Amino acid sequence: RPQPPARTRLSPEQVDALNAEAFELRMSDTPRALHLAQQAHDQALAIDHPRGLAYALLRWSLCEFILGEPVAPLQARLDRAHSLLEALGEVPGFLEALNLQALILARQSAYEQSLLLHQRGLELARHHGELEAEARSLNNMAGIHLALGHLPEAMELLQRSLERAEHAGSLADQAYALGQLGQLLQSIGEMDLAVEHLQRSLLCARQTQDLARQATSALSLGSLLSKLGQHAEARPHLEEALTLSRRTGNVSDLGQALLGLGQSCLAQDETDAALAAFEEARPLAQRVGDIPSLCSIELALANLWQARNELAPVQSALERALGHASDGRISALAGRAHLALSELAEQRGEHALALQHYKAHHACEQRLLGEHSQQRLRGLFARQQAQALSQELQVARQADQEKQALLTQLSAQADLLRQLSHEDALTGLANRRWLDLLLEQEFERAARFRHPLSLAMLDLDHFKDVNDRFGHAVGDAVLRQVGRLLRDHCRRADVVARYGGEEFTLLLVETTLPLASQLCDKLRQQIETFDWHKLHPDLQRITVSIGLAGNAEAHTPASLCALADAQLYSAKSAGRNCVRPPPAAAD
Ligand code: GH3
Ligand code: MG
Ligand code: MG
Repeated sequence: RPQPPARTRLSPEQVDALNAEAFELRMSDTPRALHLAQQAHDQALAIDHPRGLAYALLRWSLCEFILGEPVAPLQARLDRAHSLLEALGEVPGFLEALNLQALILARQSAYEQSLLLHQRGLELARHHGELEAEARSLNNMAGIHLALGHLPEAMELLQRSLERAEHAGSLADQAYALGQLGQLLQSIGEMDLAVEHLQRSLLCARQTQDLARQATSALSLGSLLSKLGQHAEARPHLEEALTLSRRTGNVSDLGQALLGLGQSCLAQDETDAALAAFEEARPLAQRVGDIPSLCSIELALANLWQARNELAPVQSALERALGHASDGRISALAGRAHLALSELAEQRGEHALALQHYKAHHACEQRLLGEHSQQRLRGLFARQQAQALSQELQVARQADQEKQALLTQLSAQADLLRQLSHEDALTGLANRRWLDLLLEQEFERAARFRHPLSLAMLDLDHFKDVNDRFGHAVGDAVLRQVGRLLRDHCRRADVVARYGGEEFTLLLVETTLPLASQLCDKLRQQIETFDWHKLHPDLQRITVSIGLAGNAEAHTPASLCALADAQLYSAKSAGRNCVRPPPAAAD
């Protein structure tokens, strides 16, 4: 029998080769890569080869991270690798260590710290001309911003990482960047573009040997298609992701592939297969501490038991979902759990409990409303950039030399564009174009959820006289002050816009006409009683007339505006300085 390899002492070069192989296999066969790194570790110790030891420790901790092993021992190994690499002046290894440390922090939800560390890695990589490491840092940073809903930031980073990855000729990093662009486009509702980007990502990934990248790309595409209700198209991609991540041992991808597959089985009434998938996914999500997935698994299980008409397990699944959602402070998922619990209690005739859950659901919704409207605003910025991006990228591909110039120009314009596109220059409120976009969104959303939406048109009374008597500068100051008063006395989720000239529009979300009418009258009084002397000693009083309309009376955003405008006209005829809701709602 030949000697077992462990008995043989390897040369430093052979240890380096083990480490290199561990790196190659880290994503596509993590357990094997781990084994190689451990071997390299023992050998490096035996022959006193510090550089080999440092890389072995680094790859060992990386593999454990991918496999979802407990953090403490992994962290200790990484720390040792980190200080060894630093002492040895090993830049690529040091960058890899920084990157892994940042990934660990992100997994522990320490996003700020993680970003700082990535930033450090990024600067170091740039300094040493390590293009791939640069692309990777940019991609990972974008991932964090994406998770936090910072869409313009994510967009900007992804543009840069895609450009770096193309420059470095790294298909794996291109696949990663395209995949994340796909996620971003998905979160702003650009589904067609998202599918296209995810398909391109999968294409890039398939040209590499990187099975893990292929798994992730297939998973994203499959999940999106299944979210779009295209279950038959989604299935092969989800199955591909499942097979690949079983092979690579990437626990996080495996869990998500199972969740996605389970959901698509459930949608196609294959409850046995769905149940098996969810039950396999649960311990995996637990292992990597993936709270959103844990919560989604329980919610999906509740749907499953509901479909089988078994109420007891529905109840316990929902309670577990709620527990996870509160642990992770995820309002959206907590809201869904409360709503389902409320419906369940209702079915059982436990009305007090149903009401209690309903109230909790409502509270979650209210909390989300603020977060959401902010996210939606951000999403709209990102969408404009996304359109610019896809055009820019096409041009850049055709004319390679022009690429750098175009991208630089694009990001220089991004800030300007961001402001010009939505802000009214005089008041800083939303401008007409922005209002039109938001109105369309809110109108559609309100219709879909059958929620009330009110729109107020506000016009300053006899404003021409103000200009004539005090000059345009004072007129402008009045407009700015009215803008401030409106913004200060509306809720955060409401949209306050300057419609043009001396006219303003308020888009009052989740607001019935009687409530809107009260709010507008309060605003009217605020403006009337403001101390206008501050602006000019002879300026005594500014008043406004307000016309109101609600979505119950309007079938389109345009007719909602027209209705409010008509009411504004009627407020003017009635003597100004008053609020006019539509005749139907006046009593
Ligand atoms: P009413 O009560 O019927 O609304 O009377 P009004 O004088 O307010 O209405 P009219 O439409 O006749 O005049 C609007 C005036 O608003 C005319 C225009 O000079 C002024 N205006 C429009 N935009 C601006 C602006 O940006 N700055 C200043 N200072 N004035 C503006
Ligand atoms: Mg006017
Ligand atoms: Mg006017």
